[in-house]
Amino acid sequence: MTILTAHRQHSRRFEEFKYVYPVLSRRSHGISIGLNVNPDKACNFDCIYCQVDRTTESAVKKFDVGVAEDELREMLEMVRSGGVAQHAPFNSVPRELLRLNDIALSGDAEPTTLPNFAETIEMIARVKPAEAKVVLITDAGGLDRPDVKRGLEIMDANNGEVWAKLDAGTEEYFKLINRTKIPFTRILRNISHAAKARPIVIQSLFLKIRGVGPSDEEIAAYCGRLKEIGNIKLVQVYTIARKAMTVVDGVPAWQFVSALSNEEVDVITERVRKEAGVKAESFYGG
Ligand code: SF4
Repeated sequence: MTILTAHRQHSRRFEEFKYVYPVLSRRSHGISIGLNVNPDKACNFDCIYCQVDRTTESAVKKFDVGVAEDELREMLEMVRSGGVAQHAPFNSVPRELLRLNDIALSGDAEPTTLPNFAETIEMIARVKPAEAKVVLITDAGGLDRPDVKRGLEIMDANNGEVWAKLDAGTEEYFKLINRTKIPFTRILRNISHAAKARPIVIQSLFLKIRGVGPSDEEIAAYCGRLKEIGNIKLVQVYTIARKAMTVVDGVPAWQFVSALSNEEVDVITERVRKEAGVKAESFYGG
């Protein structure tokens, strides 16, 4: 097992754990402990590139914050003691990459749909080492829920970071890529409000559909949205790295979506820097 394959092995199941899983993060060059708060896989988006396999039912249907706390404590101890290095794929990774970077709410669906979101953030804040970040990876659909806003305030006081998805600049492209009933205007409003309260990270995935990537006009509109949002500390521009599992009109999406080349990703990243005036990084496909 190489470091590269360890990076790609983003399984959300680890040993007998139900909700907690370690990931070697290509973004942070360390361990990110994932917390899957949506084991039922029910999402408010239906992204064309989604890698979650919804053709099979999950054995675990409901998130239990008490069980998650026990698992998180155990996993933190495994990472602290170095015990995680005894498990594949971490047994072939240099020790310096096995330091804890963050705890991320990133499941088989959208974390802000969790009914007891604030309670879950409270639990993480209580259990984690102070220096570890809490990262919320979100499609922004539920950032306007009162319980989620309370959770974000707890995150702010505990080294929290919001990573919000924005894959489009126009409503039309948003509907094509993210395939949700939530209006684009609401997503933009939610991201803007979150960014007013704290600097945020934007994650943007671009890809090709039947060989065609986003148009120049789409990227211009997208850069305009980034400028409107403001208070963005980083934009992560990336493309597909794993197999898309969505089914569109009966056709598996992996048959017609594909990754941008490294150069195409870099062109968008450079445009974000120039047109939106924001720090941006490229992450390439597999
Ligand atoms: S990529 Fe994320 S937001 Fe999109 S459908 Fe999959 S789980 Fe939901």
